[in-house]
Amino acid sequence: MNEQTIPYKIYLEEDEIPKQWYNLRADMQNKPAPLLDPETMQPMSAEKLRTVFCEELVQQELDDTTPYFDIPVEIRDFYKMYRPSPLTRAYYLEKALGTPAKIYYKFEGGNTSGSHKLNSAIAQAYYAKKQGLRGVTTETGAGQWGTALSMACAYFDLDCRVYMVKVSYEQKPFRREVMRVYGASVTPSPSETTAVGRKILEKHPGTGGSLGCAISEAVEAATSMEGYRYVLGSVLTQVMLHQSIIGLETKAALDKYGIKPDIIIGCAGGGSNLGGLIAPFMGEKLRGEADYRFIAVEPASCPSLTRGRFVYDYCDTGAVCPLAKMYTLGSNFIPAGTHAGGLRYHGMSPVLSQLYHDGLMEARAVEQTSVFEAAQLFARTEGTLPAPESSHAIRAAIDEALKCKETGEEKTIVFGLTGTGYFDMFAYQRYNDGEMVDYLPNDEELSRGFEGLPIFDS
Ligand SMILES: *Cc1c(COP(=O)(O)O)cnc(C)c1O
Repeated sequence: MNEQTIPYKIYLEEDEIPKQWYNLRADMQNKPAPLLDPETMQPMSAEKLRTVFCEELVQQELDDTTPYFDIPVEIRDFYKMYRPSPLTRAYYLEKALGTPAKIYYKFEGGNTSGSHKLNSAIAQAYYAKKQGLRGVTTETGAGQWGTALSMACAYFDLDCRVYMVKVSYEQKPFRREVMRVYGASVTPSPSETTAVGRKILEKHPGTGGSLGCAISEAVEAATSMEGYRYVLGSVLTQVMLHQSIIGLETKAALDKYGIKPDIIIGCAGGGSNLGGLIAPFMGEKLRGEADYRFIAVEPASCPSLTRGRFVYDYCDTGAVCPLAKMYTLGSNFIPAGTHAGGLRYHGMSPVLSQLYHDGLMEARAVEQTSVFEAAQLFARTEGTLPAPESSHAIRAAIDEALKCKETGEEKTIVFGLTGTGYFDMFAYQRYNDGEMVDYLPNDEELSRGFEGLPIFDS
């Protein structure tokens, strides 16, 4: 296709929004290991999972053979409010870099929650409503997931209780208010409202909390209230399934113009956005139909893939959630206080962990000042203010494009721009004031996290 005929933004028509999600596990030869019950260390039964999660989501979580799941029409109707999301050619970034590479980005920040998380929030709220539940509980760190879930719960008229990591609750009051506009109740975690919260507070008085603590509290709240279940914004395979909408749309848009990417890049926190973006492409690679390079980008201060261990670990600090086999830094690991760029979860999606372990995907860790430098260049050239999380992917895309400049290769690079950075201005302020520092945990610090790994015969 002639270069000139490819538009700046490739949109799909409304009826081209995918009608099914793609379950990458169906095409994986080495399936991700099963979740384990923290009480027995045996594979979690569906029955037991149903006490924590919604029924239909449990089915999706455990199904590693069905390749496609129909997206219910109620969810497709909601998707139409903010999808399809644009796939944009980064002409101005390319020009600034002087690279022969072609860079495209899939932008998921065009909804009020400001990130891709709404894609799964609306699905999880739908299944909770369908089951006749009264409400759901969850945790949120920076607040994007809590916001997305509040929006989804408002749409389906469900009660939404969010445990928000205390430091974020205090530092991001506006995030909290957005959630309250949508009707959610927001509790700073750890709190006195749960047994696990009281225990953590007793042990660490004055703690600012962590995602792992907030998860434990949200699970306890869900399992102790009639008509409630717990929902999670990443890591779990059901979430990655819902996020496959990102990759399916990306692929449909590229196919429209006969564009074949060479490299696909995404930031990796719990792995759901990256897993969703690469899913259909990785499926082709697994089936031997095409080949691509996939790059997961994580913060150097929370390097689960590049420096973690591939073992069973708890998903939360309180050890009330099932265990997952994944790349992990240990559930007690908390990134240094100077870390500002998000993506601070200690583990990684079991699906992505397995793919990485099998050599099907690459991973790299980047330092935060270089991430914010990339964010700034992107904002100045492409206009959009990127989330710090997303900017990890921007960093890697720029680095790959600069390599092309050296070699003269005209590679096509696609990356996921997961969200906008409007609520991250304290982090940007630190960068602008020259106060941002890089911090690499040393081996000793990492080994303290590994000491918290569960020991058992599996
Ligand atoms: C949550 C979030 C991420 C991390 O996503 P995962 O799917 O958990 O890896 C990345 N970018 C933004 C904007 C987010 O809100």
